[in-house]
Amino acid sequence: MRILLGLALTLPLAATAKPKRKSPPPPTAEVAADLMGRALADDGAYTDLVELCDDIGARLSGSPELDRAIAWSQSKMAAHGLTNVRAEPVMVPKWIRGEERAELLGDSTRDLHILALGGSVSTPEGGIEADVLVVRTFEELQERAAEVKGRIVLFNAPFVGYGQTVGYRTQGPNKAAELGAVAALVRSIGPDSLDTPHTGSTRFAKEVTPIPAAAVSLENAELLQRLQDRGKTPRVRLVLGSKSEGEVASANVIGEIPGRESPEEIVVLACHLDSWDVGQGAQDDGAGCMSALHAAKLIGQSGYQPRRTVRVVFYTNEENGLAGARTYAAEHAEETHVAAIESDSGAGAPAGLRVHTHESDDTAAVIAALKPYSGTLAALNANGLREGYAGADIGPLSAPGVPTFGIDHDTEPYFRIHHTEADTIDKIDPVLLQHNVATMTVWAWTLADVDVQVITSPTLRGNMPE
Ligand SMILES: [Zn+2]
Repeated sequence: MRILLGLALTLPLAATAKPKRKSPPPPTAEVAADLMGRALADDGAYTDLVELCDDIGARLSGSPELDRAIAWSQSKMAAHGLTNVRAEPVMVPKWIRGEERAELLGDSTRDLHILALGGSVSTPEGGIEADVLVVRTFEELQERAAEVKGRIVLFNAPFVGYGQTVGYRTQGPNKAAELGAVAALVRSIGPDSLDTPHTGSTRFAKEVTPIPAAAVSLENAELLQRLQDRGKTPRVRLVLGSKSEGEVASANVIGEIPGRESPEEIVVLACHLDSWDVGQGAQDDGAGCMSALHAAKLIGQSGYQPRRTVRVVFYTNEENGLAGARTYAAEHAEETHVAAIESDSGAGAPAGLRVHTHESDDTAAVIAALKPYSGTLAALNANGLREGYAGADIGPLSAPGVPTFGIDHDTEPYFRIHHTEADTIDKIDPVLLQHNVATMTVWAWTLADVDVQVITSPTLRGNMPE
């Protein structure tokens, strides 16, 4: 799909016969610079994030904690001056971790550090005891396919990058089950480790009977690898009490700063309010939600009103289902979404924006059109614009051709701890969180105010000049 993006020329007021406007709005970039200053003088995002983390904490879909976070978020949005604040119902899966243990048996008996993967089934009564086959790659799994039956397969894939390595968690257990494994262990998907396992979701094909699956710490995965490399066969007893309890009610939380000229055109500021059931969901994704909320707050408090509506969406169920994203996209399909920005990779130093459309040419056009507005962020070294992944929650919005954007920050502090017990507020640098808020604020304002026509639907595209 082509996304046409062009600067619409505005005639100088003096050249028109119409009477002068009472107070012509100031230029987009001028307001953006003012808003950035406001963001850098405001620590509200950090203060709110401390509350979310310490007073509510981890908030998995379907949990009472997420319900409390949904109520808290609505009151925060209202208190910060957003309007049309509401919780839109979404049905989400409810999964409960339950008891979990893994013990290495034999000469070097010890407990292994594990976290069941989200959605895992439980082990049978008394657990599973089996020999472990360690593989580093899917190719190695295929080469040793004959050895898999009746064993626990450990995927010990070194971390190359999240996108490149996460497949061992999402698909590994399914591949092991297809070959007859009784359970799967996955080396935690993270760059390094202090013996802290990372959970995350895994998926099984419909025709495959799911097997219990858990993440092990990097250190424990390497221990089992070394034992195997020395000619031993590690044997493990695994006990998982995980269970799924169907679907329950949850909600996306929404609040707005209405547009002055085209309020029906919407710029979404996105994050997800749910987290895994460990840690506090500080980096993933409390920080993103506070960036979106406070960007809207700062715009609202500034007295400037953007041309279009800024809509903050705290999505539910990003971590284990994306039901919030799908429900929002379906229920708001008739609306005109002009752009969506997501922050869902922590609060490391921002470098700018990642830009996503379906065609590289379109992405280049969007980047070229926005480049003149990035200057104010140069002071933070956050003025970059590059092609890249935008975000999971706004993925369904991008399908009909809406350009989507991801806050492009240093993700190393994020991937080290995300989905672990260590994703806690103390890992958030308050100054860098401010820089993230500033980046979100500048782009939220710019995309909602700039005189750029972004064609978002075939209907609308038909009305626009080529
Ligand atoms: Zn996330």
